[in-house]
Amino acid sequence: MTQGDQLGPCLNAIMSMSSEEIIGRLADKGVRATANRVLVYEVVSGLDAPASLSALETLLPTMDRSSIYRVLTLFLQHDVLHAVDDGTRQAKYEACPSPHLCHAEQGHVHFHCERCGRTFCLSHVQVPAVALPKGYSQHAISYIVKGACPACQRKAHMGKQDT
Ligand SMILES: [Zn+2]
Ligand SMILES: [Zn+2]
Ligand SMILES: [Zn+2]
Repeated sequence: MTQGDQLGPCLNAIMSMSSEEIIGRLADKGVRATANRVLVYEVVSGLDAPASLSALETLLPTMDRSSIYRVLTLFLQHDVLHAVDDGTRQAKYEACPSPHLCHAEQGHVHFHCERCGRTFCLSHVQVPAVALPKGYSQHAISYIVKGACPACQRKAHMGKQDT
């Protein structure tokens, strides 16, 4: 397997899917596969953290920003990707964990580190159920915890020591 070879160290090889799997996933979501769509999905699904449009631009050097944005918009409409609102001004994107339409309450918690600015997926921490008053219908929920990530806390504790 040579997945992600030229795409740099941000990619998480564990989650990589073959092109056939990606085409199948897109079809399940009602999206016709094109070369660009497969490429965008491959990159986003291989990341271990939500990525902004600017980050994706860097990871997708063969596509221009507006083409990437068009694919992202389509993917959001079809629940291929989720937009993560981490309280920064940049929307970030991650692959929907469900092969089919997922339910908003299945989401996981995100952690935004106020020191290094990174946003992490806490994939195993479910968003707690919110009891909405009568008459409100939930479409999506975003749950962001802010603070310091493990690496930044280690840095703070170790002072000037080399990390
Ligand atoms: Zn979803
Ligand atoms: Zn940090
Ligand atoms: Zn996430």
